[in-house]
Amino acid sequence: MALKAVFFDVGETLVDEERWWRTLADSAGIEPQALWAALGMTIERGEEHDALWRHLGVAQPDAWAQIVYDMADLYPDALACLESVRSLGLRVGVAGNQSTRLEEWLRAARLPVDVVASSDGLGARKPDPAFFAALVELAGCAPAELAYVGDRVDNDVVPALRAGMPAVHLRRGPWGRLQPTPPGAIAVASLAEVPPTLASMS
Ligand SMILES: [Mg+2]
Repeated sequence: MALKAVFFDVGETLVDEERWWRTLADSAGIEPQALWAALGMTIERGEEHDALWRHLGVAQPDAWAQIVYDMADLYPDALACLESVRSLGLRVGVAGNQSTRLEEWLRAARLPVDVVASSDGLGARKPDPAFFAALVELAGCAPAELAYVGDRVDNDVVPALRAGMPAVHLRRGPWGRLQPTPPGAIAVASLAEVPPTLASMS
């Protein structure tokens, strides 16, 4: 079945969250490298990333809910990828486990996309099948015609495959490098590899 649409995850897929994590480490009064180590523990244990504050024995800083992204936080290949994918004639969406505040930022950023959504706005968080069912609804096509691109195997790749969608595993960032690509998913090292990969499926 030919591809008609593609949705992208946000954190560590389109947006480099290093500045975000450094700001949080600073707010919590801990060294960034201690935060990276705790983040690694949560990935290894299959926990939600906010469990890292418990591992560090510090309260989750209030800054958690206040930081917004900046255009400079986009990975250098993000905009070119979105534009290239759109030029293939695919409907392009952005949807991650995000607050409505970040969803508003994504809309204001005027990315070259057709749909912007978030878990808060949709009322379902990945890996909940309801999140992926909502994307299928937004894309207006069959699950097999909608690809999902994300860095996390547990939250992005596996639930997308279970929903009957082609899944592209972006192997960068903490999760992308540590979680092995499961059978059935397509692994890419950068967003630059995504347009040709999707073109071969369209
Ligand atoms: Mg992500």
